[in-house]
Amino acid sequence: MPTPPLHQRLATHLAKREAEGTRRRLSLPAENLVDFSSNDYLGLARSPTLRQALQAGMQQEDAGSTGSRLLTGNSAAAEALETHLSQFHRAEAALLFNSGYAANLGFFAAVPRRGDTIFYDEASHASVKDGIRSSFATAYSFRHNDVADLERRLPRATGAVFVAVEALYSMDGDIAPLRELAALCQQRELYLVVDEAHTNGLYGPHGAGLVAELGLGNDVFARVLTFGKALGSQGAAVAGPTVLRDYLLNFSRPFIYTTAPAPYTVATLAAAYQLLPTLDTERQRLFALSDYLKSTLNAVPGLHVPANSHVIHPVFFPTSPGPEAVKQVAAAAQVAGFDVRAIVAPTVPAGTERLRLIVHAYNTEAEIDRLAGVLGKISIHTDL
Ligand code: PMP
Repeated sequence: MPTPPLHQRLATHLAKREAEGTRRRLSLPAENLVDFSSNDYLGLARSPTLRQALQAGMQQEDAGSTGSRLLTGNSAAAEALETHLSQFHRAEAALLFNSGYAANLGFFAAVPRRGDTIFYDEASHASVKDGIRSSFATAYSFRHNDVADLERRLPRATGAVFVAVEALYSMDGDIAPLRELAALCQQRELYLVVDEAHTNGLYGPHGAGLVAELGLGNDVFARVLTFGKALGSQGAAVAGPTVLRDYLLNFSRPFIYTTAPAPYTVATLAAAYQLLPTLDTERQRLFALSDYLKSTLNAVPGLHVPANSHVIHPVFFPTSPGPEAVKQVAAAAQVAGFDVRAIVAPTVPAGTERLRLIVHAYNTEAEIDRLAGVLGKISIHTDL
């Protein structure tokens, strides 16, 4: 039997990725490697307290939520969690989504409408871009973290105007100029939407986020809080005005047409939020280690970590060696005992392939020293 044309087409696309060195493959989680890759910043995913909450949640509850929140999937626990989220993050209201991806998609596809305008940072996450693509609003990107560039583009705006940024960018680890953005949005009556995926649980009082740290709660229209990273679980919430929660509940398809989070997920999240205020020492440790990693790696000839990265650190090589070479470095680091990953196009622009190191409260200075030694040797041997 000849291969059907669609199968051929799919295979051709994969072969093209293979040739470019950008074909993705699943790999099982690394065992016994030192973790410089997971999003488990505070170690909550491996926390016994959280595991106990999960077990308790599973004993008392059904295995699944059995339906959409709007049908049989709602629960007092989910509503109590949303109330807690709104208090903790000092927002009027919060609405749970099954993931950060669904929350961004659900916000941007539903809230900006035809005739409105979205300005989004060019480095925005795929979920923001996909939400914008599904929206009937007109969208323009602006240069990464460049408020002046955003301002130059504003004359194109019509209708309600949204500005979409991340508090801390997932591939570069740099922080948005939230104060300047908030001031501009106040002055020009724009609606600022901040994705706190990589700051929730880490920045601000008890980990309430970067918007909370900067006291900008009243200047931001909505925040996307995700729970798969520092919170160690999964899911997300949109925090903002009560009218936004009611609107999303009525118009946001990724909220409406999906099975609600399982009871054990809600129980785990409630427990994770109870733990957050007790983790100030872990947060301080994380930030101290983050600075230590940056200075230690920058002292190694041939490695470059930008000065403005936090918690997430891209590691660049002098010659921009391309995807295959960067993947080889990651593989060699894994053989040496470190879970280190290469990030290549299309996740980041071609030519900006890098290693991406994530620091955790449970890493140590000694691990960072050893990693620096290993990466230094590899980069000399691979002639980068
Ligand atoms: N926004 C940003 C900035 C992210 O890094 C991610 C996760 N990669 C998401 C949203 C999506 O969140 P989730 O993994 O919960 O779908």
